[in-house]
Amino acid sequence: MNIGIVAHDGRKQAMAEWVSQHEGRLKEVNIYATGQTGALVLKACPNLNITRLKSGPLGGDQQLGAMIAEGQLGMLIFFVDPLSPHPHDVDVKALLRLATLYNVPFACNTATADLLLAQ
Ligand code: PGA
Repeated sequence: MNIGIVAHDGRKQAMAEWVSQHEGRLKEVNIYATGQTGALVLKACPNLNITRLKSGPLGGDQQLGAMIAEGQLGMLIFFVDPLSPHPHDVDVKALLRLATLYNVPFACNTATADLLLAQ
């Protein structure tokens, strides 16, 4: 199973903590992360199988969207920061739109991410 992970700057620490907390389960999957999110998570959990894509504002969100369109992503964990503006907001919307369109389970906060991973 391939899981995509993305976190806006204000939520990156929360993502690193969430991944650390679920490291045992996440050892069984392939993780695809946007660039800076992947760097931080790899520092916290160097043993996980994490492929870093481009940074979100440079196209990483779109790369994850393309994986969804190709049927290659089984789950998306996207910790959105609802309190900050983002220059690549259109890409964020496009990614969540494709996850919705292709019926990919996705979580935008830790509570939902916990529930998804428990499945
Ligand atoms: P980043 O991208 O992980 O490269 O910071 C995340 C984002 O879309 O803001």
